[in-house]
Amino acid sequence: MALYADLHRHLGGSVVPRILWRYFQRHNPDLAQQYPDYSEFEEFYTRERNTLDEYLELHTLVESVQNIDTLPYFIYRLIRGAYIFENLAYLEIRYTPYLRTNPTLSENQRIEQMRAIVEVVDKASKVNEYPIITSQILCMHTRLSYDINRAIVDLAADNKHQICAIDVAGGDKLYEDKIDEFVKLYQYARSRGIKTTGHLFETPYGSYPELLPYLMRIGHGIQIPLQHPELLTEVASLNQCLEICPTTYLKTGTLDDLKQLKIVFDRCFEAGVDMAICTDNAGLHNVRLPFEYENLLTQDIIDFGQLQTCQDASFRHAFAWPYSQPPSALLVGLLEERENTKHSISHRQKTLSP
Ligand SMILES: [Zn+2]
Repeated sequence: MALYADLHRHLGGSVVPRILWRYFQRHNPDLAQQYPDYSEFEEFYTRERNTLDEYLELHTLVESVQNIDTLPYFIYRLIRGAYIFENLAYLEIRYTPYLRTNPTLSENQRIEQMRAIVEVVDKASKVNEYPIITSQILCMHTRLSYDINRAIVDLAADNKHQICAIDVAGGDKLYEDKIDEFVKLYQYARSRGIKTTGHLFETPYGSYPELLPYLMRIGHGIQIPLQHPELLTEVASLNQCLEICPTTYLKTGTLDDLKQLKIVFDRCFEAGVDMAICTDNAGLHNVRLPFEYENLLTQDIIDFGQLQTCQDASFRHAFAWPYSQPPSALLVGLLEERENTKHSISHRQKTLSP
């Protein structure tokens, strides 16, 4: 069995429509009334949006019901689905902890509550019956103040056993006014030894090369091969991996056709830039990781060999995968060990027989 890694998945967007709808029916009468019919809700929830901003609006619907008390409910179902339907061996879950705190508290109290949120996410993602190695990425957010974002970096730096990296999210149109702040925050994060990724070069509005040197991986980054191929040599030399999330670009109106990704893959392979294929918002899209792979194959965007190269890159660039090899290599090792044992037993039996 092939085992996969997903390096880019938002906690908010990870809830599949049926789980969310059922949650409304069971626990939230107001929202249940707003969406009485499942198929209508699914249509509304998963339909394509015109822009990234419009698409991100949907996250607020999920964020409004994901709080310290309900997170275990959603995370348990996320892990169960990822294990059963996606064959995940490794998953990095990302979210903005401040946006999961109680909005009726003061800013300082909310900052303080972020620690408890991290703890809840950590505990809820360890499910004995569905064993997946998980870690958290904390997202700074364009709509949050410098102080709150800095508190998010500190939280990550103080809890490296639970948090593997930081990210910036929230719509790249808003980066411009705050670009100096984010450069400073990333510099600070690197000075505290935190690993880094960031939503960058996702849409034509998100091209900020000044942030690039601070990133170990690039959230999306597809506009680099599409619009700024001159940057590819630098990306390759810094060993930065692009987190490619194919379905997202259709849902946000960034691409009209998945086939446009062919040029992204071709140019990156040619320049020696690593790519990991990820889901971003597997629930919101209703597209799980194996289907992202399959879509790319059936549309001739990549071939099987290239898919395996990307799958290996996912484990190599995973921030918290504890082994030097992907699970396939570990399984091959186990099989070889078994063959050797069988061989030595039959050899011993032969020597012992009269
Ligand atoms: Zn994302």
